[in-house]
Amino acid sequence: MKHAIKQDLANHIRLNYNIEVDPNSLFDIQAKRFHEYKRQHLDALYIVTLYNRNKANPELDITPRTFLFGGKAAPGYFIAKLIIKLINSIADTVNRDPDMRGRLKVVFLKDYNVKFAQRVYPAADLSEQISTAGKEASGTGNMKFAMNGALTIGTLDGANIEIREEVGPENFFLFGLTAEEVYALKAKGYNPRDYYNKNSELKLANDRIASGFFCNGDANLFKPLIDNLLNHDQYLLLADYESYVECQDWVGQAYRDQDNWTRMSILNTARMGKFSSDRSIRDYCEDVWNVQPVPIQIEAYAQTNVTLKV
Ligand SMILES: *Cc1c(COP(=O)(O)O)cnc(C)c1O
Repeated sequence: MKHAIKQDLANHIRLNYNIEVDPNSLFDIQAKRFHEYKRQHLDALYIVTLYNRNKANPELDITPRTFLFGGKAAPGYFIAKLIIKLINSIADTVNRDPDMRGRLKVVFLKDYNVKFAQRVYPAADLSEQISTAGKEASGTGNMKFAMNGALTIGTLDGANIEIREEVGPENFFLFGLTAEEVYALKAKGYNPRDYYNKNSELKLANDRIASGFFCNGDANLFKPLIDNLLNHDQYLLLADYESYVECQDWVGQAYRDQDNWTRMSILNTARMGKFSSDRSIRDYCEDVWNVQPVPIQIEAYAQTNVTLKV
């Protein structure tokens, strides 16, 4: 089923974008509104890292991946719009590069909405739920992906915490600082440049973006993103980069064992029952609204003496 749905999305991408994506590759999807705390930019840094590794070592044996993004930014949200531009620029460069053939593809799916989302969630092998710990109230995309058999790469944030508890920590790719560690790091004074200077892959990824490499040599276009990361990085992308990259490399390895991956995928679907809307509404009735079910008689059923609980 998963393969057939991936094939359908691949057909949609060929027809609408004229890009060939391989349904046997790992479909790594981040689909949600664009916001800095959701950290699509961190996902983009990993793509550039893979690109750089492949350019440096063309023989590198990597798990072929298709990175898919979907989502809108609020019209006046300049940085979020620029992250969308960055992903599109990386996609153009990667998809055109013959060295990346059979290895990496990146597609930005336009006009993301609920109707189209129905074709996206079930096509995912990997669900990106990588918000800074402490920032996402719950998330619902994380649930939609997991119940459709995607494995999650995620932080301990929002409903990721409960999803991980339900599906089992061995079926969830966890990385990053906890909310407590985020507060502690900010309290003691966070300097993103320390991380930039210490990690050569992170430095190279940032420098390549800054140089204009992905946008015809225009070294000004992404300057606001680079300045923001190196001087402020409010959402701690650089602090979580190393942990994210290690976790993503582990995902790539895990995907090679298709039997085990499929087992983990099925367990994700099978163990997501807790997130049913019936259970959720019942909890609200008991814990928040403090209301009891009201037994009612409905005419048509009155004769059969059935009492409906609503
Ligand atoms: C579920 C959904 C969202 C919310 O996704 P999150 O990952 O929880 O932020 C946003 N847009 C669409 C179209 C959705 O279907």
